[in-house]
Amino acid sequence: MPANFKAELVGCFGQPVAENPTGAMQEAAFEALGLNWRYLTVEVKPGDLGNAMLGVRAFGMRGVNLTIPHKVAVIRHLDETAPDAAIIGAVNTVRREGDKLIGENTDGKGFLCGVRDAGLDPKGKRAVVLGAGGAARAIVTELALAGAADVLVVNRFAERGATMAAEVASSTNAPIRFQAWQGYYPVSADADILVNATSIGLYPNSDAMPPVDLNAAHPRMLVCDAVFNPPETRLIATARQQGLPVVDGLAMLVYQGAIAFELWTHEQAPEQVMKRALRRALGLVI
Ligand code: NDP
Repeated sequence: MPANFKAELVGCFGQPVAENPTGAMQEAAFEALGLNWRYLTVEVKPGDLGNAMLGVRAFGMRGVNLTIPHKVAVIRHLDETAPDAAIIGAVNTVRREGDKLIGENTDGKGFLCGVRDAGLDPKGKRAVVLGAGGAARAIVTELALAGAADVLVVNRFAERGATMAAEVASSTNAPIRFQAWQGYYPVSADADILVNATSIGLYPNSDAMPPVDLNAAHPRMLVCDAVFNPPETRLIATARQQGLPVVDGLAMLVYQGAIAFELWTHEQAPEQVMKRALRRALGLVI
């Protein structure tokens, strides 16, 4: 066989991007599968995104991840957007198919993988999602598309939450409701899943806990947190203490990366390898 010294390229564009740990888990996955692929973590200023996407085409890159502040702005530089990413209105993964760049959103799907890993199928279930930002919208969309029986969006700024709930409901025909967040949100006994998709608890404010009252919660309600730094948020720790099952933000982060890996390489992602690499990159005990 002739020698092939050409690596396949993927990467991440963001600003700031230096602390983004995704490269560590993708590179570990390439190595585990013996793939000659490289993941480039690149700082791209907002005004340079168009040129950066032309670079993706010029270099024949297989795809890229987008992070803050490019997830929405990238859409106008793409040839197509996957239906769920179009509903979410944001793209975190671009894949190349022939000459076309196609936008995907793997955040909400990554969340669903974590939920299923915990043994819960969201179909027919009742979910409460705290927050109405980008992460919440991706999670609400995927819960709706997965057939959740009821999705209640709870957000501090009522207008943002009500608009998000109404937009996703009209795009998916799913039963999505909104409730304004006043004081402690009492989680009712009929909720099967509670998700914190706000940034409450994110480092350096790791002592913060979303104002929720878990006292009336069903004893098997699954408590999920999108915050992955730290993975053991106060919400996750409190739920554990109450004996509730939990899914931390690392699960969503690993699975959104695993789905991107599969979209790019068409190989099955080595999820355990990726999880270990991510924990190591974040300085967590393996
Ligand atoms: P956004 O800035 O888009 O949204 C933030 C949300 O948090 C808003 O709904 C905001 O409410 C709410 N919020 C923030 N502070 C408070 C507060 N003090 N009280 C009540 N509500 C508050 O952020 P993202 O959606 O992009 O990210 C949210 C979290 O999800 C972050 O911690 C991020 O790291 C994490 N994330 C995790 C991923 C993973 O793979 N694990 C992937 C993507 C994100 P309001 O509208 O009222 O301001």
